[in-house]
Amino acid sequence: MKIKVNSISFKLGLLFSGVFIVLLLLLGLVLYGVFTNLFVDYIKQDLLARGTNHAKILEEKFDQLTIEHVVAMEKGVVTEVAVTDNQSKFLASSIKPNLDMKRHLLSNHSKNSTRIIEEDWRHHQYIITVSAIGNGKGFVYMYYPTYILRDIVFVMNLLIVVTSVGIVLLALGLIGFLSRKLTKPLLTMKEATNLMALGKYQQAITVNGDDEISELGKSIQLLGEKLQYFEDSRNEFLAAVSHELRTPLTYIKGYSDILTKGIIKTREEETKYLEIINKEANRISFLINDLFEMSKLQIGTFELNKEWVYIDPIIEKVIASLKPAATNKGLQIIESLQTENQKVFIDFQRMEQVFYNLIENAIKYTNNGEIVVRTYLKKEFTIIEIEDSGIGIPSDDLPKIWERFYRVDQSRTRKTGGTGLGLFVVKNIIESHDGQIRVWSKENEGSTFTIFLRNKPEKSV
Ligand code: ADP
Repeated sequence: MKIKVNSISFKLGLLFSGVFIVLLLLLGLVLYGVFTNLFVDYIKQDLLARGTNHAKILEEKFDQLTIEHVVAMEKGVVTEVAVTDNQSKFLASSIKPNLDMKRHLLSNHSKNSTRIIEEDWRHHQYIITVSAIGNGKGFVYMYYPTYILRDIVFVMNLLIVVTSVGIVLLALGLIGFLSRKLTKPLLTMKEATNLMALGKYQQAITVNGDDEISELGKSIQLLGEKLQYFEDSRNEFLAAVSHELRTPLTYIKGYSDILTKGIIKTREEETKYLEIINKEANRISFLINDLFEMSKLQIGTFELNKEWVYIDPIIEKVIASLKPAATNKGLQIIESLQTENQKVFIDFQRMEQVFYNLIENAIKYTNNGEIVVRTYLKKEFTIIEIEDSGIGIPSDDLPKIWERFYRVDQSRTRKTGGTGLGLFVVKNIIESHDGQIRVWSKENEGSTFTIFLRNKPEKSV
């Protein structure tokens, strides 16, 4: 297994092992302190107490037999004992007095010397205590071999070193484990995002579990799906726009070619062709306007200047401007506007556009009969209804009419000159006002578009 020094798993492994080793060293330090201070102290005091006990026994009876008895008590244990008279002459000892033992004999005993005379366990052979026997009869020396203490410290140090090495090995294992557990999904995601950068947005990222990393995997996958969706709709959109532009341009080009070639015989024919060119140019102009509106909606630069206004006058204005078109087709527009006392919080120019699109559609798609425009209040809503007795919309098409460029029947709308963007813009404007729009329609009977706008709250009237 290859370990990369700058990989996350390596850094984590290093961090874990670093923390472990620091903790271990701290623990070692504490153990060492406990050992040297408490344990060595205990040994010294115990040694002194035992020596003093011996001294007490000998104080009562300071003869050779008792001395031998006291010395015999220290046989078979790690400590040694020696008894001297007050001239530092050995009377008895548990082992043959060696040089260190002799060197530590006190030359100048005070009569009540009972103390530790050697405690440097690191550099001397014994920890030594002395206890005076009675009033200067003699002394009991106790010896504790310091190699035991040094051995314990050595074992302790060894343990710390071995454990540290163990931890480093463990950390390496941990790094390997983390590499597989942690880095693998990250690498999968990296590869997936690299592919996404190359335009292959739809990537299946399989990361097991439900932790943050698998969440990230799911988010990246979702992002890819969204990007794919945007890419698809962008392509569809471009295809639709170029198609929409190509058709009128073909007409314009065709008829203008005929006109420039001078093969037109009559003045009427020429006017007819010019009218077609004009109509198609208008179509392009409408399309560009609608596209502009739509792009503003899409990129969110569409700013609403909302204010509290009465809605009926706006509708009256739109109806007035569209009345000639209706009259031309022999249609009547009936108004029933009943929200005169209720203001709504809207961008009235945008809303004017909504009413214009809807009433214009009603005129476009109605051949005879009438168009009724109603406004009324219901609960907390102001409701606007545009009802026509026109050709209606087949039920299969109803859910799709809000989509960009969707037109129920290309040939019938070609005549009417629609772009298929009107209702898309309408729906977006209504929804950006926190409102709703619904449609009811039946083929050859007519359609009703109903808008729901929230009324002005009481307190801000
Ligand atoms: P267009 O510019 O083609 O009118 P819209 O987005 O406004 O585009 O409408 C989408 C389609 O919905 C239209 O092409 C038409 O087929 C249908 N439609 C819209 N309003 C009506 C209506 N009042 N009556 C019948 N069909 C309608």
